[in-house]
Amino acid sequence: MKNAEIKSPQYARSLIEASLDPLVTISTMGKITDMNEALTNLTGISREQLIGTDFKDYFTDSRKARKVYKEVFAKGFVIDSPLTMRDSKSTDVLFNGSVYKDGRGKVLGAVVVARDITERKRIERQLIEARVFAELAASMAELAKTKAEGATRYAESAMKAKQQFLSNMSHEIRTPMNAIIGFTKVVLKTDLSAEQKEYLIAIKMSGDSLIVLIDDILDLAKVDAGKMSFEKTPFRMTTSLAVMLKLFQTKIQEKNIEIVSEYDIDIPGVLMGDAMRLHQIFINLISNAVKFTNEGKITVCARLLSEDAEHATIEFSVTDTGIGISKEKLGQVFENFQQATSGTSRLYGGTGLGLAIVKQLVELQGGTITVKSEVDKGSTFSFNLNFQKTNGEAELEVELIELDKEIKNIKVLVVEDIPLNQLLMKTLLDDFGFERDVAANGKIAIEKLKAGSYDIILMDLQMPEMNGFVATDYIRNTMQSKIPIIALTADVTTVDLEKCKAVGMNDYISKPVDERILYSKMMALVKKPAPEVKKARDKNSNEVKTSTRCIDLGSLSQRTRKDPSLMKEMILLYLDQTPTLIHAMKQSFNDKDWNGLHMAAHTLIPSFSIMGIHVDFENMAKKIQEYAIAQRQAEGMDEIVLQLENICLQACKELQEELKELKMQTYAT
Ligand code: ADP
Repeated sequence: MKNAEIKSPQYARSLIEASLDPLVTISTMGKITDMNEALTNLTGISREQLIGTDFKDYFTDSRKARKVYKEVFAKGFVIDSPLTMRDSKSTDVLFNGSVYKDGRGKVLGAVVVARDITERKRIERQLIEARVFAELAASMAELAKTKAEGATRYAESAMKAKQQFLSNMSHEIRTPMNAIIGFTKVVLKTDLSAEQKEYLIAIKMSGDSLIVLIDDILDLAKVDAGKMSFEKTPFRMTTSLAVMLKLFQTKIQEKNIEIVSEYDIDIPGVLMGDAMRLHQIFINLISNAVKFTNEGKITVCARLLSEDAEHATIEFSVTDTGIGISKEKLGQVFENFQQATSGTSRLYGGTGLGLAIVKQLVELQGGTITVKSEVDKGSTFSFNLNFQKTNGEAELEVELIELDKEIKNIKVLVVEDIPLNQLLMKTLLDDFGFERDVAANGKIAIEKLKAGSYDIILMDLQMPEMNGFVATDYIRNTMQSKIPIIALTADVTTVDLEKCKAVGMNDYISKPVDERILYSKMMALVKKPAPEVKKARDKNSNEVKTSTRCIDLGSLSQRTRKDPSLMKEMILLYLDQTPTLIHAMKQSFNDKDWNGLHMAAHTLIPSFSIMGIHVDFENMAKKIQEYAIAQRQAEGMDEIVLQLENICLQACKELQEELKELKMQTYAT
């Protein structure tokens, strides 16, 4: 490009106009001398009007504008000086400029370029706003977190307080209720007029329902707190159901209705699960069925739904021919405090909590529950549960056994601090015909154990001086004693079954004590053959089976403390009842009289261990009992009946011999 072109005014103008940013030249006096179109566009003022006017007048802050122009001339340049134009949009600009001089270096004026930074400022502002918002949000989140943590802590401590309160209340209510219900039962056994009996039954029933209510509320609180836990222990489903059905025998007879069980014998013998909770589900459903049925029958059904190598799914149902539930109410019966009609409570009692708990118990174990019902026809509650299969043996189970007044000579140590409970226990044990001794705390119990011998201990947990856990720990670990210990507890929420087991207790029973359960649990523990005896027999198990002698009176003589007259009595009893039972078993098997078969097998079962007959035969009798409960004939059953007949006849023969021996001994002494 030629020098002349560069110097041409058009060239200078095109350079000025090339800038998209507003550009202006000012004289040393601060007057506008030239500008580009961008500036006239921005200000909306024509070139002619702008020329010769004061530079500073076009800015919102004219003093600041004057400073800028002064700075240019003082320093010779200005960089990024911020100003706001006095235009309709108050455009924010940054001024950059420098002076221009003539050939001799004299300053003629200044060229300043204004950069519109509205957009930049907007973004900046937005960024700042965003940052402020972000900071605000962060601090709000922090605040919310702190609040939430506080709320959680509060809720947790409220929940803990609720649990503690319920647990304490449970204990406080159960303790006197234990005495009320217990002594009512004691008085009920005495001679009473019909009227007195009626009043006492009313007291007992009210007490029982109060205990049910406490248990229900505690269970719901547990579900609320997410503390409902389920055991996974091996149990025998048939035994579990049989025990439960037995509990309803009296009620059923009173109401003149029938209870039928349909048990699928394909259900694996031993399963892993929570037998106690299954019991609780059934008790609730059957209680309702009994309560709401006045004629007809109740059918309790267990059916194998599906099975694989590891699990079995079982469908259970309870069907009644009772009053039924209307369609509108059917959807609500599983809700808390819901009853089908407002008059239900008045007519039938109850609180409407039972089914809510049943639903929770089923669903928390991964099962489902449904109900079908028709008014005046009846209802069916069905639920299914999945159980893990096991080859293991079922844990010690309580099979409800009838009070046998013949069994005496069992010495019980009751460890209990509350005098009322002591008295109640004494009365119960006297009824059982057992000998008993009482210790007011763990320490006294240990002294008594050191001084005398006992067959079983009933141990309260909360006691002054030394509680039940510490005492049991001492008995097991320091004294190295294997004496059976049953824990007695009035507090079902905090009773830590694991803790009971961990210190070496064999079982536990909650107050108010059900005397049948107490008796059965005690008998199950005292009748268990001593481990040493069992081991010796296990070693020679073949020999036992093939040996000509099938009985072993070791455990009988231990239990009767070698008292020959007592042994004689027991043997006579066996000789007296066994042939009749065998006959009844055979007859009812041939006639498919399942109830008769159940009764015969059931009565025979305890006699095997009493007379030391090999456990295989006891298991055979249990098998027969299972088939009878299931009301089904299975392959090989006739063979088992025959084997049982043979072994019992052989046992009778051997016991006749023993009896002769014992008679000789008695004459000799
Ligand atoms: P509760 O029996 O204590 O009232 P449940 O939760 O066990 O509480 O039962 C809720 C309601 O459902 C009962 O009050 C009754 O109206 C109805 N119900 C439950 N089972 C049956 C049944 N088998 N037959 C008729 N109604 C029933």
